[in-house]
Amino acid sequence: MNRITTTNQSESTNREPTAETVHTMRIITTSGQWRHELATLGASSIGLVPTMGALHEGHLSLVRRSRIENDITVVSIYVNPTQFNNPHDLDSYPRTLDDDYRLLEREGTDYLYLPDYHCMYPDGYRYRLHEIELSTILCGASRPGHFDGVLSVVLKLLAAIGPHRAYFGEKDYQQYLLVDGMVKAFQLPTAIVPCPILRESSGLAMSSRNRLLSSEEKRKAPEFHRILDSGTSIEGIRQNLEACGFIVDYVEEHFGRVFGAVVLGHVRLIDNIPRKPEARQECFGSEVHTC
Ligand code: AMP
Repeated sequence: MNRITTTNQSESTNREPTAETVHTMRIITTSGQWRHELATLGASSIGLVPTMGALHEGHLSLVRRSRIENDITVVSIYVNPTQFNNPHDLDSYPRTLDDDYRLLEREGTDYLYLPDYHCMYPDGYRYRLHEIELSTILCGASRPGHFDGVLSVVLKLLAAIGPHRAYFGEKDYQQYLLVDGMVKAFQLPTAIVPCPILRESSGLAMSSRNRLLSSEEKRKAPEFHRILDSGTSIEGIRQNLEACGFIVDYVEEHFGRVFGAVVLGHVRLIDNIPRKPEARQECFGSEVHTC
């Protein structure tokens, strides 16, 4: 097991860094290592932040929330191949492990979970989780198999770490709903905590994929959010996005939110904006309720 020691982080209850205290972030690579570690911890609450790395402030906002709400925070970094329906997208997905490592260490993350393919898929993905309703719309319609991969990997992460809470960004709102539904469907003992979307000052939703945009595309990308949030009709939004040079995958309204997916250059961007404050109360079809 690797150990990283820094001198500017605190383990104190208010979690404010001080110069005198030492924070240690441990790296674990297998669920067996984690179980061994867990036996020595005596922690009353564990928070998990699943990520695919190339971390930005959006990810770190989830880490901060987890640190406030739990004794121990585990962040996983795993670029999950089964959720990529396009091999080029998987190959070009940004990987910045050294920087991620430093950012997480600075945030006072307790554990970094870095599993490999054999650890995550000892079955070679013969077993997978398939939702039949919500996963057929929006990103599920244009990315076949994507949500099977997402749900399967999240189930494996929840099984491996056994967190009390797991943190998901509303940037991937459909993903959050599907994971929350899965946890309720299988009565898993983890609370799924939705976290608000963090944006650049331009309004562009932070995303690991933003790094792949050229400088000209970076200038244009904030128009995606501006047009999505313009309050015009769904068809009007689509037309304005196309007029602006985006290739539109979808613009649709569900759950009181406007969802959009566009391609800019070679980069797929998604975003969603609440249409009205009570959006969260609305259900999709046979939403899963807890007993
Ligand atoms: P990813 O690494 O893209 O799989 O994202 C890991 C988690 O971070 C997911 O729950 C995302 O929804 C969340 N996330 C990504 N971008 C943002 C953002 N801009 N604001 C809030 N959460 C985000």
